[in-house]
Amino acid sequence: MTPLVRARALACEDLPAYLYDLSALREHAAAVRAALPERVELYYAAKANPEPDILAALGPYVDGYEVSSGGELAHVAKAMPDRPLAFGGPGKTPAEITSALELGVQRFHVESVAELQMLAHLASRVVPRAKVAVLARFNLAVSASLLQGSSMAMGGSPTPFGFDPSQADEVVRLLTDGTYPHLELRGVHAHLASGLHAPELIAVAEAVVAWAMSLAERHRIRLAEVNVGGGMTVDYADPHGRFDWAGYGRGLGRLLAAHPDLVLRIEPGRALTAYCGWYATEVLDVKFSHGEEFAVLRGGTHHLRTPASQRHDQPCTVLPVHTWPHPWPRPVAQQDCVTMTGQLCTPKDVLARGVRAIGLRAGDRVVFALAGAYAWNISHHDFLMHPPPAFHFLDA
Ligand SMILES: *Cc1c(COP(=O)(O)O)cnc(C)c1O
Repeated sequence: MTPLVRARALACEDLPAYLYDLSALREHAAAVRAALPERVELYYAAKANPEPDILAALGPYVDGYEVSSGGELAHVAKAMPDRPLAFGGPGKTPAEITSALELGVQRFHVESVAELQMLAHLASRVVPRAKVAVLARFNLAVSASLLQGSSMAMGGSPTPFGFDPSQADEVVRLLTDGTYPHLELRGVHAHLASGLHAPELIAVAEAVVAWAMSLAERHRIRLAEVNVGGGMTVDYADPHGRFDWAGYGRGLGRLLAAHPDLVLRIEPGRALTAYCGWYATEVLDVKFSHGEEFAVLRGGTHHLRTPASQRHDQPCTVLPVHTWPHPWPRPVAQQDCVTMTGQLCTPKDVLARGVRAIGLRAGDRVVFALAGAYAWNISHHDFLMHPPPAFHFLDA
């Protein structure tokens, strides 16, 4: 953890607390931006963590924000006025599309024929003099098996996301034959998988671009942009590891060199913000059950659902506290390893198993790392009615 976070985790009276290190976030985002070629636009997928301080800290390093609902659209437009927005996601409602048109959203990621028809109708009413820029999202079946011996198929399984590839010719025709004069087909979007390393993601980008270029050639049109999505891996077993942004940037650079008129866009969420957040709390009790030892923490998965939803152990650090303010004895761990659980009445409320914590005591602090993305905002806050955590945005 960073020195700022360690100091605050020890000093904090209002545990549990989310601690965000905004200076660390800026440093990371600057390194990501610096690793990417100029013709790669970087959008932040706001669903990973939409806290206004996070959106603002990323501001100087991103070209825009990707939003996936009317709620995110209103929230990000308010937090970051006048910044480019891309609006994606399935099941967009007429009201959401209308407000996106009114807000002048830069890109619509269209997911279905019905949505295309609705967007065309609403655009002709809401912004009759504008051309609304569209990326058609496709659920492409892409194989990365050609590269570095890896073998995995991405996309291509039945999902509610994007057009089926068999609809590509129809979609291009609808958007280029004058049927929808208020819409302009700018390119293609494909967010096919999450948790991929740089070589696989480069192979995916190459395959998506090749597919888009052959589609353009077949219809004798120009597709100026390809958005290859997010999905850069975060390794929860290795809190110090990082996605190979430099290697990824070089791979995208080679791809762009082969397509001098193309703009690539990426929209990472997790790999941008996971590392800037920590969930700090304290041990309430240490207890023994059928051969195993448990540390019961203040808080739990109703604040940090990430390990329960992704089935991993959230990496954590114990900060020993030497004073015990109570007149009753202090519970102390007898074994080398404990399971870190929360206060919920469900066996699923586990934050980490097999944590080496010799001599752990009630009152010690425990700080969970990689809690900056898909953490608080994916958690079921009201289950059991425990108080919410505090939030501290730290800055050097
Ligand atoms: C969730 C999502 C992202 C971000 O994915 P990460 O795995 O957080 O990088 C990007 N694009 C779309 C369309 C998404 O749904």
